[in-house]
Formats: sequence, C-alpha cells, structure tokens
Amino acid sequence: MEVFPNEQACVEHLARLRWPNGPVCPECGTIGRAYRITNRFKCAYCRSFFSVRKDTIFEESRLPLRKWFVAIFLFMSNRKGVSSHQLAREIGVKQQTAWFMLSRLRHVADNMAVEILRGVVEVDEAYVGGRNKNRHANKKYPNWVDGFQVVVGAVERDGSVVTERVPNRDRAVLQGFINKRVHRGSRVYTDDLPSYRKMKGYTHRKVNHSVGEYVDGDCHTNSIESFWALVKRAHKGIYHLWSHEHFDLYLREFELRWNVRFLPEGDRIDVFLRHVNGTRLSYEDLTNGRRPVLRGRRTGIPQTSKRASKGQTRRGPGTRQSGSVRQFPDRNPEHPTGRAAADP
Ligand SMILES: [Zn+2]
Repeated sequence: MEVFPNEQACVEHLARLRWPNGPVCPECGTIGRAYRITNRFKCAYCRSFFSVRKDTIFEESRLPLRKWFVAIFLFMSNRKGVSSHQLAREIGVKQQTAWFMLSRLRHVADNMAVEILRGVVEVDEAYVGGRNKNRHANKKYPNWVDGFQVVVGAVERDGSVVTERVPNRDRAVLQGFINKRVHRGSRVYTDDLPSYRKMKGYTHRKVNHSVGEYVDGDCHTNSIESFWALVKRAHKGIYHLWSHEHFDLYLREFELRWNVRFLPEGDRIDVFLRHVNGTRLSYEDLTNGRRPVLRGRRTGIPQTSKRASKGQTRRGPGTRQSGSVRQFPDRNPEHPTGRAAADP
C-alpha cells in the first residue's frame, strides 16, 4: 500500500483506470475536459464539480479510498476469501460496514463475470451448504436437494470458470446450462452422471468415476473439482453461512478470484478498478434484493488464461485484446456512464 500514500494518489489512480480517455463529466457527458482540484474534478465545459466515486460502488461511502483499496487487495488475493470480521479488524471499521463493503466488491465481481466458455471445457456439479435438517423451521430453504444447494460449474482448461445454481441435476437443467454457457463445438468433459448423456452440439467425453477412472488421456475433470474444493473449504472455514439471497454473489466472488489467478498480485487491484463503472449499489437495493443487473457482464472479462498471459491471442470471434478490457460497447460511447443514452 506504499504505492498509495494518500487519498489524492488513490483518486488519481482510480480516475486513470475508470476513465482511460480522461475524466467523464456525469452532468454533460463531456470526455477529457475536466481537471482535478484537490480530490474533486471540475468540468471545463459545464463547470460542475464531480467526484471520481460517482456512479461506482464507492459513491455513497465516506471511507477513504485507501481503505477500499486494502479491502480490494485482500478480497482479490486471499484464495478462500476474507470474512467481514477479518476485514473489519484489518482496516478498522465496524463489522457491518465491512459486510456492506464486501457485498459491493462481490457486486463488481458480478460485473466481471464471464459469459461464454470455449475450447476444452470441464463441467461438473456440486452440493454447497449445510443440511436442511440442521436448520431452524423458519430458516429451511425450499428446493434444496437433501438441504444442499446444487451448483453447476464449467471451467475452460487453463482459463475461466462460470457457475450457476440450479434446482436439481436433471438432464434438461444441466444440459441447458451447457448450451447457454459453453460455445457450440467445444469439447466437453464430464463425469459419468446420466444427465450428461446424449449431448448435442459438442464433442463429449466422460471419465467413469464409478469404476475408479479419473483420467483418460487429457480427459479429466480435475480443474472444476479443485474449484469446488476451494469453494467448499471456504464455505466451511471462512464464511460459515452464505445467506440464500446473496448466494449468487458469493459464487461470483469465487469465479473472479479463479479467473484472475494467473495475474500478478499487483495487477489484480487494477483489473478490478477498471470494472467499477456503473456499479453503484445502495444498502437498500442490496438488502431488498433489488440489486441492479449489471451491463458490463457481457463484455468485461479479465484476460487471465496461461495462453493469454504468454501474449498469444485466442481463436474465434470472442478474441479480446490483451491488456485492455473493452468497456460497455452497448452504451452510448460518448458517455460511459450510459445516462445520456437512457434519458436523451
Ligand atoms: Zn460537464
């Protein structure tokens, strides 16, 4: 954290990353015409003042950005995650504050989620959570298999992971997930669960776990299984309880850490800060279950596979430029916060 000695250094750093073409005025949408006065920006066109926190998860927070950056660092670099109690001690805030901070970080993780995988993809499902019979009557969760939540996940070999919670392990459910999240024509490796049989549109191979077979040539599901192992250990050791409402946010958090695992530690804060545009989240919206749907999800993918970090480009139409992450192409290009497009 020596890199960020004071608030001003943090403001400059955040401004550089969220506005690569210069500050964007939230009032008039002018790009690159604002200048910094201490910790605020002033638009040279419409003369309004604005903060670098506007329209991000930092907007309604009074905490210094320095504490936020420490939180982001801990969030991105602890393999099993960081609990709100631990974060509270670490940066000297109340546990409730730390909990809301972590929820907002997970909200950005949602903004960074990967949509489609391709190439060699391992698919496997897992049970996460405690047993319903151990829960108090008014805390039992409906639709859980034996009290566990079924989660299905897919991992690109040496690449990103996507997960989704599902009601059960039926064929329609699991293959529906594959059809939605795995590019047609990819090689899909699974175990021998009957639900994966007769898969159309993919080269499907399976390892026969029931007869003790775990690796057949390059066909194995070890990557997705180590992802689940990580999630389950963290669930037990760090968080103890994932509330039903925020379950998906926890999954996004684990996806994000997995997806940036090949990035050097120093780059992880930066890739995170590039995705904070348009992520404002109020406490009311979070706790009422009205968390806004994020627009960045379809585009913002940190470039993390081993292949990519060696500087080689990927095949196919989904090729992304390494080093830079495209931002919100479906929004008004003149106005990255998208407001001008929404109400002309
Ligand atoms: Zn302006």
